[in-house]
Amino acid sequence: MLLTAGTGYAVTARAGGVSATPYDALNLALHVGDDPAAVAENRRRLAAEVDVPRIAWMEQVHGREVAQVGPDDAVPVADALVSTERGVALAVLVADCTPVLAVDAAAGVVGVAHAGRKGLALDVVGALLDAMRDLGAQQVLARVGPSVCPRCYPVPLALREEVAAVVPEARSVARDGSPSLDIAAGVAAQLVAHGAQVEWLPGCSAEEPRLFSYRRDGGTTGRYAGLAWLP
Ligand SMILES: [Zn+2]
Repeated sequence: MLLTAGTGYAVTARAGGVSATPYDALNLALHVGDDPAAVAENRRRLAAEVDVPRIAWMEQVHGREVAQVGPDDAVPVADALVSTERGVALAVLVADCTPVLAVDAAAGVVGVAHAGRKGLALDVVGALLDAMRDLGAQQVLARVGPSVCPRCYPVPLALREEVAAVVPEARSVARDGSPSLDIAAGVAAQLVAHGAQVEWLPGCSAEEPRLFSYRRDGGTTGRYAGLAWLP
């Protein structure tokens, strides 16, 4: 069920859920065409697995809005979540995009962000870190979760240069030598620029069969989740 996990964070894998093909099996997203009852069961199993009373989700739109998790189960339109509450895990859904799992355990502030190509260009992780600081965070440890790697993410030259003009660290080359983007490297550079300490959780979604990959799976597939919570 979990690809990787540690104190206060986890990344889910495909196995361990009830969704049917092409969402097999632990699809955690409601917006991809899967049976909502299956997604609900998958989410219930995940909460039990990581042993948290509740998981907070968001409706991701490739923007830079940050929402603070409240006491209810509202699902805000946002691409980052922050919280100072214990007993709730914050979730970010991806299938090639980069999940960022951030925490200042001493200050008791946790956050997650969803960064794809658009989120990178919008510096959504900068917005996340600003929001965490507003809640008292000082020393943020940001884990950059598994996502599509630059070898597997060729893009048109003009698109690469458009993004690289904003985030030069994202300029890369694909396996076949064509232009590509390294979203995770760009995200890591932004995190460092905003004063966070960065830790990598390895894995390329397109190469790792235990993860969903939008590119590899032809666009119709499930989503895995990165989770962060205050232990
Ligand atoms: Zn790859």
